[in-house]
Amino acid sequence: MPTCIALIVAAGRGSRFGGPLPKQYALLNGLAVLRHTLLAYRATPEINASRVVIAAGDEALYEAAVHGLGLPAPIQGGASRQQSVLNGLEALVPEGPDFVAIHDAARPFVRPAEIAACLAAAMAEGVDGAVLGVPLADTVKRTDAAGAVMETVPRVNLWRAQTPQIFRFERLLAAHRAAAKLAESEATALTDDAAVAERAGLKVVMVAGSEDNRKITTNADLARASAMETRTATGFDVHGFAPGNSVMLGGIAIPHNQTLAGHSDADVALHALTDAVLGTIGAGDIGKHFPPSDPQWRGASSDRFLRHAVDMLAARGGRIVHLDLTLVCEAPRIGPHRDAMLASIAKITGVPADRVSVKATTTEGLGFTGRREGIAAQAIATVELPRS
Ligand code: MG
Repeated sequence: MPTCIALIVAAGRGSRFGGPLPKQYALLNGLAVLRHTLLAYRATPEINASRVVIAAGDEALYEAAVHGLGLPAPIQGGASRQQSVLNGLEALVPEGPDFVAIHDAARPFVRPAEIAACLAAAMAEGVDGAVLGVPLADTVKRTDAAGAVMETVPRVNLWRAQTPQIFRFERLLAAHRAAAKLAESEATALTDDAAVAERAGLKVVMVAGSEDNRKITTNADLARASAMETRTATGFDVHGFAPGNSVMLGGIAIPHNQTLAGHSDADVALHALTDAVLGTIGAGDIGKHFPPSDPQWRGASSDRFLRHAVDMLAARGGRIVHLDLTLVCEAPRIGPHRDAMLASIAKITGVPADRVSVKATTTEGLGFTGRREGIAAQAIATVELPRS
């Protein structure tokens, strides 16, 4: 059986990722992205061993990510991805595998069956290498620098290349050594190992993979890729009546023979919803974010409070699944305004109206709401949030 070593390229700095760590070391469901990738290769019987190319200075991150996997020392990468791969290939020369599988550390969703299929294609008679990829499904446009469409490129036989890219080791090594001698302008056009191989005249074939084998490029990709958990939190608020002619409830003005007193517009419904959403991420309460002592919130429209809470949730990769609101008052009557309130809350939060619920009750004349001294509101927010 021919031998194949996986060369995992983890030397990128991930300037587009924007997180505190390079993306290959960020945690995905509690494990480093690199570790997920290594586990996929380890679960592929056709792969004999894995080696990782890392950036200088990332040794501690690497050790933490691969702890307990029994990997040999990492290989130090170079100034470009191409140089990093060449360093990795040179380091494999003593082992002299028959095949090498180059893989981006930031593609943690590759399946062992896909790796095996790619290797099988690379082993075929007359073939030097095989690349996992996906046939293009979208229509492709070529534009000028200003974005004006110049032509529609026929998408037949066009693919998006992923990794692994698996090659006969000696041939890829020779191709990379030759490419290392190119001028920088020529070398930058070689954006993957298949391009290096093609330039050397090697025969490379595409193997159909899946969209699941996507690359984690941004923080948002990582959040989307994470397993989600559901969280629920409540909010509660009360505002007392004061002389006036309308109350703000759920972002709409409802005619009434009184108004609600408060520092902002006293929208008790939106305040309860804001606290519920803040509660799902443990972000304190509305008073922490918008202190009543701060004059800038005097008379403020409360939709901005709720939107702020939704934005904080979104920044954590979360989204609202459902909002449930109960208003407690003898008057005004809520029923006639329920649909407008639903639409308003849906608009403020960006949640579809069929995921918003507005209910109302009286307290049968009992207590402060029964005495028509004010309105109470109770809200429950259900959200989905990345587990890590
Ligand atoms: Mg309030």
